[in-house]
Amino acid sequence: MDHQAEKELSTIYRSNEDPDIYMTIDSLVTLAIKGFATCPDDSLKTGDYCASRKISGYDACECIRNTFPSPEYYELYLRLRNYYLQNVGRTLLAKIAGEVIGENNE
Ligand SMILES: [Zn+2]
Repeated sequence: MDHQAEKELSTIYRSNEDPDIYMTIDSLVTLAIKGFATCPDDSLKTGDYCASRKISGYDACECIRNTFPSPEYYELYLRLRNYYLQNVGRTLLAKIAGEVIGENNE
């Protein structure tokens, strides 16, 4: 991996304020429900290693850049995902489980 080129790409990404670059609400919502998996953590055991992340950091590595058009979208995704997991997902699953089990003990 070209260290310098990677640095430049992440710098451009971080400062991107081009209003023409956007992501639809639909794809954001879909990702927030499915969950977006970044590259796995570096591990000697599994051989996983992300050179891009090592140079650019967790918030601007190649996998993130390929999915989210700008850091704002990535931040929004994290908020939506968190909200979904804490509230929407939990509430829905509890409702379904309650319907199957037939009682309301939480
Ligand atoms: Zn990566």
